This record gives sequence, C-alpha cells and structure tokens, in this order.
Amino acid sequence: MKIITDISEMQMRCVEARRRGLQISFVPTMGYLHEGHLSLLREGRRRADILVLSIFVNPAQFGVGEDYESYPRDLTRDAQMARSMGVDFLFAPEAAAMYPKGYSTYVDVEGLTERLCGESRPGHFRGVTTVVAKLFNIVQPHFAFFGQKDFQQLAVIRRMSADLNLPIEIVGMPIVRENDGLAMSSRNVYLSVEERRQALALSQALASARRMAREGENDCARILAVLRAAIEQHSAARIDYLKICHQATLQDQDRVDGDSVLLLAVFIGKTRLLDNGFLLGDR
Ligand code: AMP
Repeated sequence: MKIITDISEMQMRCVEARRRGLQISFVPTMGYLHEGHLSLLREGRRRADILVLSIFVNPAQFGVGEDYESYPRDLTRDAQMARSMGVDFLFAPEAAAMYPKGYSTYVDVEGLTERLCGESRPGHFRGVTTVVAKLFNIVQPHFAFFGQKDFQQLAVIRRMSADLNLPIEIVGMPIVRENDGLAMSSRNVYLSVEERRQALALSQALASARRMAREGENDCARILAVLRAAIEQHSAARIDYLKICHQATLQDQDRVDGDSVLLLAVFIGKTRLLDNGFLLGDR
C-alpha cells in the first residue's frame, strides 16, 4: 500500500492505472476507521483492480462551532487497517492543498440538501459535494462506495453524479452496527459510558417503528409520536429531527408504504448521532 498526500501524484497514479485498462474502486472517508468503513473497502476490493481509500477531514463540511478540530484522527492506525484490507493507495491530502488560498468553486445540489441534516447544518452538503467532486476528479474511479448510514448524503451524491454526468457507479452499502444495534460511527468515541447506553435510543426507535409498520400501523404521525416519547425518556437525548420520508425525494410522508424511510438525528449529550432504515420490506 502506498500512502499519498500529494494531489498531482494521486491523480497521475490513477490516470496511469486507467491507461493500463485497470478498474478503480474508491472509498472516501474522514478516517478513524471502523467496521462500517471496512465493509465499503471490502466491496471495493471485490469489484475492481485498484482500491483507493481517501482520508480527509474536510473543513468545508463542518459549520462554525462544530467538531472539525476535535474530530478523531489516527492515521497510523487507519493505515494499518487499510493495509490489511488490501488498499492500494491511501490518499490523505492536507486541507491547505485541497483548499489553497483563493479557492472559490463549490458544488451545490439544490432541493435534497435543504432539509433534514441540511436544515440543522447549513452549508454541510455543499462542503460534502464539493469535496467529493474534487476527490472524484483526482481519483477518477469507476466505482465509489458510500454507506446508507448517511442516507441523505448518499441521495445527494447520487443526484450530483447524475446531474453532472459523472461516469462513476455510486454504490450504496448497508449500515454496519455494533452487536447491540448502535450504528457504527467515528463519533461514537465521544460518548461516555452512560451516553453509550442511551445512544441505543436511536436503533430502538427504528426497531419500534418497523414493528409498528409491520403490524399494520400506517399513520406516520402516530408512529412518530410514539418514537418521540420513547426517545425523550432518555435524559441525555435531544431530538434534532425525526421523520418518515420517501426514500428518493426525502419528502415527508403521511402514510407508510414500501418507500418509507425513518430518518433520525439525535444529540446524545453533545454528540449528534444519525440512524435510518426502511420501515417495510427487507432493504
Ligand atoms: P465518514 O468517515 O464518517 O465520513 O464515512 C465515510 C463513509 O463510510 C460514508 O460513505 C459513510 O456513510 C460510511 N459509513 C460510516 N459509518 C458507516 C456504517 N456504520 N455502516 C456503513 N457505512 C458507514
């Protein structure tokens, strides 16, 4: 595995691989790798000849007062894990190289980005789509892998790729969870022992919503009211949003159907956690 920090070198290596007729899988991350990231790497490794992992804590997607500085970082540990997953290139550019003085170009996806996480974190998706577009231009992958853990992000990136005619297959991968149901996240390390216990409020809410939907409850407002009350039982929990949306448009739904996804963002103490899942079917 080669660790590359230089943008031109990364681009040159990928152009060269393409010229040799090799297929490239790409997994963009902010590092502090866990099983969720590894599941994307495993699928990437399976699908193509060259596997590229990027680790970049992207300042453009953090708002003022958010955790950019304190976001967990451990490149040595990440590099070991990446090597064991068969990564060919670990790309870890510096923020100053990605956004040099005078940087002024941004990619903005309208519509899908205005609600849910976009409402609580203004500018967040503009930062995400900008950095992903830049990384796509550097790596020029055939396949790019994203987790459904960030359901809205995946929808926004699919939209961007389609709208900009990017010749890249966007592959969405299922949420990887801890044994007790908590969705894996680099931010879980922020949780105290007690908060870690209360963080189960999210996956438990998803499980109850699924149970209600399966048992025939199809009124979204009624399901959401039950979940809200259950989450609010947890002293450390503060709901940011809790919604049942259509999986493609992300618009609120009144009635549960096969396209319904429960999406929730909940602060546990100071840590904002996400979870989501389809209410019916086995997706
Ligand atoms: P991050 O490093 O948090 O920006 O995540 C990088 C990629 O890993 C994104 O596509 C995430 O959706 C994905 N990811 C993060 N956590 C999980 C998880 N628990 N299961 C599956 N994918 C995940």
